[in-house]
Amino acid sequence: MDYPAYLELVKQLNQYAHEYYELDQPTINDFEYDQLYKRLLAVEKEHPDWVEHDSPSQRVGGSVSTSFTKITHEIPLYSLSNAFSAEDLRAFDRRVKAVNQSARYVGEYKYDGLSISLSYKEGQLQYGATRGNGLVGEDITANLLTISGIPKHLEDDSFTGIVRGECYMPKEAFQGLNQLREEEGKPTFANPRNAAAGSLRQLDSRVTKERKLAVYLYQLLIPGQSMDQEKQLEKLAELGFPVNPAYITTSSIEEFIDYTKEMTEKRHSLPYEIDGLVLKVNDGQTQAEMGFTGKAPKWAIAYKFPAEMKASLLRDVEWTVGRTGVVTPTAVFDPVRLAGTTVQRASLHNVDFIRQKDLHEGDTIILFKAGDIIPEVDRVDKDKRSSGAKKIAVPTHCPACEEALLHLEDEVALRCLNPNCPAQLVEGMTHFASVDAMNMMGVGPKLIQQLVERGLLKTLSDWYRLTEEDLLDLPHIKEKSARNILEAIAKSTNRPLNALLFGLGIRHVGKNVAKLLAQHFLSSEALFKAEKEDLAIVEGIGEVMANTIYQYFQQKEVRELFDDFEKFGLQLTMEEEKVATDSPVTGLTIVLTGKLKQWTRSDLKKQLEKLGAKITGSVSKKTDLLIVGEDPGSKLDKAKTLGIEVWTEENLRDRLEGRL
Ligand code: AMP
Ligand code: ZN
Repeated sequence: MDYPAYLELVKQLNQYAHEYYELDQPTINDFEYDQLYKRLLAVEKEHPDWVEHDSPSQRVGGSVSTSFTKITHEIPLYSLSNAFSAEDLRAFDRRVKAVNQSARYVGEYKYDGLSISLSYKEGQLQYGATRGNGLVGEDITANLLTISGIPKHLEDDSFTGIVRGECYMPKEAFQGLNQLREEEGKPTFANPRNAAAGSLRQLDSRVTKERKLAVYLYQLLIPGQSMDQEKQLEKLAELGFPVNPAYITTSSIEEFIDYTKEMTEKRHSLPYEIDGLVLKVNDGQTQAEMGFTGKAPKWAIAYKFPAEMKASLLRDVEWTVGRTGVVTPTAVFDPVRLAGTTVQRASLHNVDFIRQKDLHEGDTIILFKAGDIIPEVDRVDKDKRSSGAKKIAVPTHCPACEEALLHLEDEVALRCLNPNCPAQLVEGMTHFASVDAMNMMGVGPKLIQQLVERGLLKTLSDWYRLTEEDLLDLPHIKEKSARNILEAIAKSTNRPLNALLFGLGIRHVGKNVAKLLAQHFLSSEALFKAEKEDLAIVEGIGEVMANTIYQYFQQKEVRELFDDFEKFGLQLTMEEEKVATDSPVTGLTIVLTGKLKQWTRSDLKKQLEKLGAKITGSVSKKTDLLIVGEDPGSKLDKAKTLGIEVWTEENLRDRLEGRL
């Protein structure tokens, strides 16, 4: 590489970094970025005199957006150097062992989220910040406090220090969010990390709250003190933070290499995305001796899994109309095995996406899985394109009702605005009948399509007007299946209020929100009466959502719909969920200690509280019960001295399940 080419590479990488950190809209994937970055490092090593001051290698990562208050980190946040092969790992091991022959390692997951830093003083959260450029980050305290597992006050009010970890979006939440955004005609997030970043950097924390983010903490820093990595994890768990128990300790690099191989497949079955494994020297003393390069600790390295990319042949682009009228294109291609499953369809999201990728008929497309779960088209292999191939044609009219399609302002989506569009009706009716809604077993899309076409299903209450004759009139329906269908419909009248609310298909109202609504208002009547403010105070419901729900229940048609529902005997009220009064832990004052395997500490705490127990931080005479995980600390000794009952996690599980 010559000097101008080097300058070009710097410019290119800076552009990608800008897209990634500031726009949350990367245009290349991590693997490609890493490859380019590696090349940059190699060139700079060979020509140290070339190194530009704005080369990405001279920064710790990203730069700071201006909308949040800036926070200067008391201790900078570092990046990690990368390893892409077993050889890279062995070289790292040699550097470590040269310093400490008997060094031990902790191997952790590398979560594909973004790092956060929390500062506590005497048990009180001072601030929570993003990494930013490593030295200066953004104050996102209010947003972080919406995430379960980040307490404002610790039970241990003597703790002063910095806690760090990763904020991520679980695969399921990522998938749900993108689905919703697609339905609403908004651009989707490329991966869970961008989704998490976009959600954390919201100026309105109510939006963050609706995004189902999670955290794992993996670093604990007390100025002037060095602590072994494993001790840090233990102490974090003891303080009540979510710590992932899935880490390994070893002193053998070969064992770790085996682990990377094992996890390359197994990672696909985790509920969150990891893009690698982080290997850290355990011993704090050795860490201190090895120190840092300008950018990263020398005592840790990130092994990156190879990104799975597969080529396939584009066979067709299907355009379908969703429940909200958004028309989405889907690529249909020859089946390929990708990240653990066989795939043959991938959403193309919208017209812009098709143009950006410059998709042509019969193209060879390169696929990957976003968030390790959703098949996505990464790019087109243009060398394989046959000459004369046509660009993918964009429909001008609805594929279902033939009305002209519209591009609404500020939307990327194409929409059919015809309220009587059969495709939208079919989608809405299918949603109503689905398992988590009214659970009408044996009622499939084909049947629904026919019923909609014949005008038998126009509004949701029409389900309960269907007769045996209506069904027998349809092709291929015999008496027995007609009766089964009617039975399934009749049975659905017993579905609880939350299922009904979900089935309505109100914008933003997924399964969880429907449950929140039902449990808070306990009747549809109360929902009709609710003001916007009454809706917005419900835990987990933000202003945007409150507004949509309010608007929905203001409609005359909805009032009529519910009058019908009442007539047909649907469940329009539900009972309040009570705190248990008869569990083995009800009324007990409980302390948790040690590393838990079956629960995260905050989950267990919530669960026990629901059963009527009180959880406190330290053992005293008032404590009734101590629950111990692995490697319990001094709390166990104290409990023994005070003669307090002690249960292991297994004891607890057995008792809760009534086995003891
Ligand atoms: P990179 O972004 O590739 O420079 O990798 C460094 C980043 O990995 C850190 O800033 C963290 O956000 C992230 N990371 C994810 N999991 C871990 C972990 N277990 N330990 C340390 N860093 C992690
Ligand atoms: Zn239409």
